[in-house]
Amino acid sequence: MENVVVHIISHSHWDREWYLPFESHRMQLVELFDNLFDLFENDPEFKSFHLDGQTIVLDDYLEIRPENRDKVQRYIDQGKLKIGPFYILQDDYLISSEANVRNTLIGQQETAKWGKSTQIGYFPDTFGNMGQAPQILQKSGIHVAAFGRGVKPIGFDNQVLEDKQFTSQFSEMYWQGADGSRVLGILFANWYSNGNEIPVDKDETLTFWKQKLSDVRDYVSTNQWLMMNGCDHQPVHKNLSEAIRVANEFFPDVTFVHSSFDDYVHAVESTLPEQISTVTGELTSQETDGWYALANTSSSRIYFKQAFQENSNLLEQVVEPLTVITGGHNHKDQLTYAWKVLLQNAPHDSIYGCSIDEVHREMETRFAKLPCRRLVRSCCRSENRRFGS
Ligand SMILES: [Zn+2]
Repeated sequence: MENVVVHIISHSHWDREWYLPFESHRMQLVELFDNLFDLFENDPEFKSFHLDGQTIVLDDYLEIRPENRDKVQRYIDQGKLKIGPFYILQDDYLISSEANVRNTLIGQQETAKWGKSTQIGYFPDTFGNMGQAPQILQKSGIHVAAFGRGVKPIGFDNQVLEDKQFTSQFSEMYWQGADGSRVLGILFANWYSNGNEIPVDKDETLTFWKQKLSDVRDYVSTNQWLMMNGCDHQPVHKNLSEAIRVANEFFPDVTFVHSSFDDYVHAVESTLPEQISTVTGELTSQETDGWYALANTSSSRIYFKQAFQENSNLLEQVVEPLTVITGGHNHKDQLTYAWKVLLQNAPHDSIYGCSIDEVHREMETRFAKLPCRRLVRSCCRSENRRFGS
């Protein structure tokens, strides 16, 4: 393959709560943002940072450092901080259908407050992907999805087996939803950390890139290769620019660039061959030695799944219709707030029930503080006032 361009995209996958409680992870998040802003200020070669596809991390940071709101806005305006398109990174299957839609709608509303959203449906760690995702994305004006699980045979161990049964031989494919909507799908074939911790030491550089380039070569259909520079709660890679310079010296036939999903997707779309596959419907294949869909999280802490559905039904089928009947606008903000609180229990490590007990105790409090019933009473009171009773 000639004229290979390696797109290095910086990110940190931010499980809001998991092996640590929310507030402990948030303290790490503050450090991440502070270090990132230092880098933006002092390293002009550090182009951009992908904020994990979820806007809630901006709220989490600015609650601690509200004085940095202008700074955040400036970096978003300059295209350095890549935000959106979702509110949180949810599990598709363990929450309600409506909650999946609301997560996208609220994410779009939140990104609109700041400016431009990264136009990529981002499902890096979701334990399988729902068949309606292409439809929801297309309805939101998003034509590309990136995901880590659910398509065989590509996996962590980098095996490529020559067999016709495989759904896609390449990381790039089309993904067609239940209604026929189609998006370009990008599978993180070597996971979303395949370009993490890039060395600057010359000997280490040679070994590192020989292996990494070989891993990517197994799956790509174009000469535009993706390297995800980050992992779970990964701190900012402070000397990345130097690491990229060293890589370019060692591999003169390859061009290493600090990229973004906007640039990478544009480059891939203009070089896609005709023979890539189309995968259809939900992506839950576990027939891989790689990253499984982990469907068995359905049976863990079932009471959370029940509470989520109950509250989602209440918001969708009782509170919202009542707000419309009673004039709507008086309760619109409260309704959005209620959906946000509910969605804070929807991230994959939260609703799965696979986190430490402190996390799940906080989830119980979130469910308990949801203002659904209060909103019902408030709507009914304003309706009574309208009719003078
Ligand atoms: Zn995760």
